[in-house]
Amino acid sequence: MNEATLYIDGRWVTPKQGSQFSSIDPATGECIAALSAAGVEDVDLAVKAARRAFERDWGKTRGSERASVLEALADNLERRQQELAVLEVRDNGKPLPEAERDVADAIGCFRYYANLARELDERQDQPLDVGDARFSCRIRHEPVGVTGQIIPWNFPLLMAARKVAPALAAGATCVLKPSELTSLSALELGLAASRIGLPPGVLNIVPGFGVEAGAALARHPGVDKLAFTGSVPTGSKVMSAAAADIKNISLELGGKSALIVFDDVDIEAAVEWILFGIFRNQGQVCSATSRLLVQEEIAPRLLERLVEAARDIRIGPGLEEGVQLGPLVSAGHYRKVMGAIDQGRPDAPLLTGGVRPRHLPRGYFVEPTIFDEPDIRSPLWREETFGRVLCVRRFKTEAEALALANDSRYGLAAAVMSTDLERAARVANGLRAGTAWVNCSPPTFTQAPWGGMKQSGIGRELGRWGLENYLALKQVTQYCGDEPWRWHLK
Ligand code: NAD
Repeated sequence: MNEATLYIDGRWVTPKQGSQFSSIDPATGECIAALSAAGVEDVDLAVKAARRAFERDWGKTRGSERASVLEALADNLERRQQELAVLEVRDNGKPLPEAERDVADAIGCFRYYANLARELDERQDQPLDVGDARFSCRIRHEPVGVTGQIIPWNFPLLMAARKVAPALAAGATCVLKPSELTSLSALELGLAASRIGLPPGVLNIVPGFGVEAGAALARHPGVDKLAFTGSVPTGSKVMSAAAADIKNISLELGGKSALIVFDDVDIEAAVEWILFGIFRNQGQVCSATSRLLVQEEIAPRLLERLVEAARDIRIGPGLEEGVQLGPLVSAGHYRKVMGAIDQGRPDAPLLTGGVRPRHLPRGYFVEPTIFDEPDIRSPLWREETFGRVLCVRRFKTEAEALALANDSRYGLAAAVMSTDLERAARVANGLRAGTAWVNCSPPTFTQAPWGGMKQSGIGRELGRWGLENYLALKQVTQYCGDEPWRWHLK
């Protein structure tokens, strides 16, 4: 990778002023690529290029044309699927099978929104009965304009796809700022765009730091819509910046999701879902079920099996055969997670983990960690750790479980496990979260809406709701009465 790592107006360019930064392999701590960081001026150029592209042609194209472009992007990524998965492992640290699934999901996301772009042509200009025969009204779905898209590092290519695919399907243009920790697959998306001949300026990619490139994008007056995924504190800053000129905004933020396990479950099956819920993707998942609520009766047996199974998880570099858990994403994140663990130690017994595995002296590895009965006022129980730390509490009754689960400023997701399906459905309906899982945990689907209640976010991505994010509704109402209009007569 050379230094021309900004993709602006269809060209690879070096920054006007921005600084350099490195992409680090979290399994070794070694630099794998030198990148240039976009500065304020580069972001400005990218936004202006996106505006020109929007007004020149992209905003006026038919959905069917945009569908062909999205399919071409998907085809291009598919041809390099394995290469992209390996790149994602080296940049982010996740085990190869997880990276392969992410890349396949990202490709699927482009294909899904290609179909919705086509359907948009059929939905365009549908008549609406306004209850007065003298007026005809039609409804248009118009692209929202220039979008600023800021994404995190935990699913780099997939997060990019979830923003870029619906925006392009809607006829919007994009300025995408990937995380400074994992920019490489976003640059590959830029390469795919240039290879398929996407018109210049339709997709611009500005790697760089949040405080500089991210903040410049969030406050840029030329951006019509901001779509942000990341932490609550940064989301709050982005929302403040958007408030200055009333930008349309959607926020996908953090979580501290609860998983409630009733005493009628099959323990082995429950343990598998609990492990998947907290340790998948290195525990770096916004919807990780990091608060486990177990009914008193089965708690001793379930916890014994859970701890055994957590100790059996194979940790190592993501490209090593059979590895289930890779490193955390960066040195900074490693320090943050270890800091939260150390701060939690006096507060609750540690059932397992909390340390670096002995056989992995370098890289950002931490053993799967489980705390027992932290105080419900402690940061361990209330704050997002975002890294393989599970906290367990026991409960007696359904009402107590629901109250504990909902006692959080977050509301991204939650799960319930019980063989009593009526009870499970009742609890799922009572959970104050954007997603409730029954007898499973963290599956996400391109077709289903994704987003949070409370401080976990505003708006929904994915499914047809993800497309609506990038559309502006418009009514075109026409007077077609026989009589000349007299404003003072009925
Ligand atoms: P983060 O908030 O630190 O950064 C997210 C993005 O914002 C990065 O690209 C960063 O460079 C940029 N940024 C930082 N400061 C900025 C500023 N002042 N203005 C504009 N942009 C700025 O989050 P992270 O550590 O990259 O990701 C982890 C967080 O993301 C967790 O809280 C996780 O729960 C959340 N997340 C949420 C979802 C979801 O769908 N709800 C999905 C993935 C991750």
